[in-house]
Amino acid sequence: MQLISHLHIAPTLAAFFGVSLESSKRPMEQLLAFLQAREPAVVTLVVIDSLDSTLYYTLAADLEVLHKLASAGLVFDCETVTDTTTPAIASILTGLLPEEHGIFTSNEVGTSPVNSLLELLDDAGLPTGAILETEGTRPLVGRISYVCPVDDREDIAEYDGLITTHTVSVVQKEEVRFVFAHLRAIDRFAHRNKDLHIAAQLTNKHMKNIAAAVSARAGVLLICGDHVAHLAENRRPKKTMGTVPLIASYP
Ligand SMILES: [Zn+2]
Repeated sequence: MQLISHLHIAPTLAAFFGVSLESSKRPMEQLLAFLQAREPAVVTLVVIDSLDSTLYYTLAADLEVLHKLASAGLVFDCETVTDTTTPAIASILTGLLPEEHGIFTSNEVGTSPVNSLLELLDDAGLPTGAILETEGTRPLVGRISYVCPVDDREDIAEYDGLITTHTVSVVQKEEVRFVFAHLRAIDRFAHRNKDLHIAAQLTNKHMKNIAAAVSARAGVLLICGDHVAHLAENRRPKKTMGTVPLIASYP
């Protein structure tokens, strides 16, 4: 696997869609070529919370859909830039380091002056959609074409089910060019020391449905983790933030 960074994702997508985005990173050539060769009607990016490189392989049997997509597409070992969700997602969508975008908690989500890929594309006449937890969607309301907030809840299977249903319906909208969604079951199970195989199987089922919707629109599906899982064995100081898989597929 080639090593890239979370910061490459937004510049690469911006280059593909022909919008300008400020980042210290250049577009990632291999990923850009993958997009240009397929000219997808829609690009869907799903962030799977806490899916790191170790879990991607140890849960391979449960994440069958992801491995199938990866084997027919591309998979990168992707360096993360933080160990928490909100700044990680902001870095994925802006191509900036947390200290550059300044988004560390949901309080700052609405106050950062930095526009993410979602707003940049929508402003350029390429409609976008975002499906995530209600707090994270607030600054996007009225800024992009489709915003689907899902309230946080105890039943994380129900939560991810709603994220998936909304994601499928936004992907189906003919005019939409870029969709962002965030699935959380693996992260919730990791925090509570519950059976990760069950969370991975749930995630796999949801990704199968999303992949089918993306396929029906001849779209590209990008899938990545946001940070290394918060498991007991990962709770010691490390020299780097660790890696997550980034899959590029044409389902
Ligand atoms: Zn996370």
